[in-house]
Amino acid sequence: MGANYTGGLPNKIIPIEVPPHVLMVRGIGWDSNVYLVRDGEEALVIDTGTGVNWHAYTKIWEGEGYLTGVEHVTIFNTHEHFDHVGGNTVLRRWLEERGIKVSFAAHRITADVLERGDDGIILSYFYGRRFEPHPVGLKLDDGDTLKVGSLELLVLHTPGHTAGSSCLYLDDGRHRIMFTGDTVFKGAVGRTDLPTGEGWALRESLERLAEFDVDFGFPGHGGYIKDWKENLNEVMRWLL
Ligand SMILES: [Zn+2]
Repeated sequence: MGANYTGGLPNKIIPIEVPPHVLMVRGIGWDSNVYLVRDGEEALVIDTGTGVNWHAYTKIWEGEGYLTGVEHVTIFNTHEHFDHVGGNTVLRRWLEERGIKVSFAAHRITADVLERGDDGIILSYFYGRRFEPHPVGLKLDDGDTLKVGSLELLVLHTPGHTAGSSCLYLDDGRHRIMFTGDTVFKGAVGRTDLPTGEGWALRESLERLAEFDVDFGFPGHGGYIKDWKENLNEVMRWLL
């Protein structure tokens, strides 16, 4: 998606910081966006891309010192598609090599698909690759909170794009942030024609998301959403 490179790292990725806790890195090529949420010694990585370009993201984290002093990272997947989970195991390895403890977290449905390595749902073959199944230690339900240092992110199960799709809501006292995965983007909604997708479920999920006050919507692909409710109103009209 506009990345201009030849066989190596792109010339320039400009991360977007939402101080003091959040860093957005736009995904290269087919990759999902990759987010880092940090508080003290704890950090959360939200989605990991296909695993093809992961070194570009770690280069930014390491080069800019975003992980300096971090002792534990939770890798959370917004849903079970390969372009969001393909980098899970390679990122775990990279972090562990630096002495950082890693755990995986996802909604229970997504976690089960990842543990089974269900390629009929993960769709790794779309990318000519295979997903390496792994245990997901933290299986979350709607309404659970995911803790990162002193931060608490609310887990919202928002099925529709896939059965396990979920969003994370963070109010860190300065910004209200919603990480949306492929449930809603700037100007578009996630497709519902893939395995376990359901149009009616997506509509219900979007209606629920519209009840939140959000300063930054951070989707799985593309740029961030500034006008949260206007954006939702606009994209929901297309579902009628
Ligand atoms: Zn997806």
